[in-house]
Amino acid sequence: MNIILLGPPGAGKGTQAQRLVAERGMTQLSTGDMLRAAVKAATPVGLKAKAVMEAGELVSDEIVSGIIGEALDALDVGAGVIFDGYPRTAAQAHSLDGILSDRGRTLDHVIELDVDEDALVERITGRFTCATCGAGYHDTFKQPKVAGECDVCHGHEFKRRPDDNEETVRTRMAEYRAKTAPILPIYEERGIVSRVDGMADIDDVAKAIDAILD
Ligand code: ADP
Ligand code: AMP
Repeated sequence: MNIILLGPPGAGKGTQAQRLVAERGMTQLSTGDMLRAAVKAATPVGLKAKAVMEAGELVSDEIVSGIIGEALDALDVGAGVIFDGYPRTAAQAHSLDGILSDRGRTLDHVIELDVDEDALVERITGRFTCATCGAGYHDTFKQPKVAGECDVCHGHEFKRRPDDNEETVRTRMAEYRAKTAPILPIYEERGIVSRVDGMADIDDVAKAIDAILD
């Protein structure tokens, strides 16, 4: 089963993808995570992407579709893929069709996390992750069970993203509205879009997604 989690920055895509990985053995392909790793490693892709990401704008379609194809070939994706943060433009949606059909795969569901934009700034400015395993947390909505200790790997170091500031978030939301939201009709025509209330509690969002996948 291959699915897209679609929604603006802070909608909860990564949170739900991490849970699906843990509970269903699916593979999360987050172009944001892959680009951040490329920036950290100062690869040619990372060097091109760094300033664009810091500004909250979109990295080129060629770069992101390239890394998605490479990741699909490199990973064991037997239990299915969760596309998180990709596709973000009509060109990427068309590339994904080709990438999947070349590999004999199909897209089963596009799950749109429907959220109130006013809540997203608070979600994003309160976001932090475990520096060791990448598990996601929030200052208010999802604190580690033991303060200062990751629930998953028991690490004690956490980090915040440089682009998780209010100004950049506004640009990222504008990019979502202008370039990503308009790709929904491509999938609506195929009858594979489901909408989930992303403003619900994390566990209730999870239940709604499970009801779609089961
Ligand atoms: P995205 O991957 O869509 O950008 P995240 O999954 O990283 O979003 O979520 C953004 C922040 O909001 C994180 O800190 C996360 O813990 C928190 N969060 C995710 N889902 C919810 C929810 N349903 N209610 C409250 N906070 C949430
Ligand atoms: P995310 O982790 O999904 O919030 O993405 C962080 C940043 O990485 C975005 O603001 C973009 O600059 C870049 N990015 C991630 N995925 C894509 C994509 N599919 N297309 C273009 N840029 C992307």
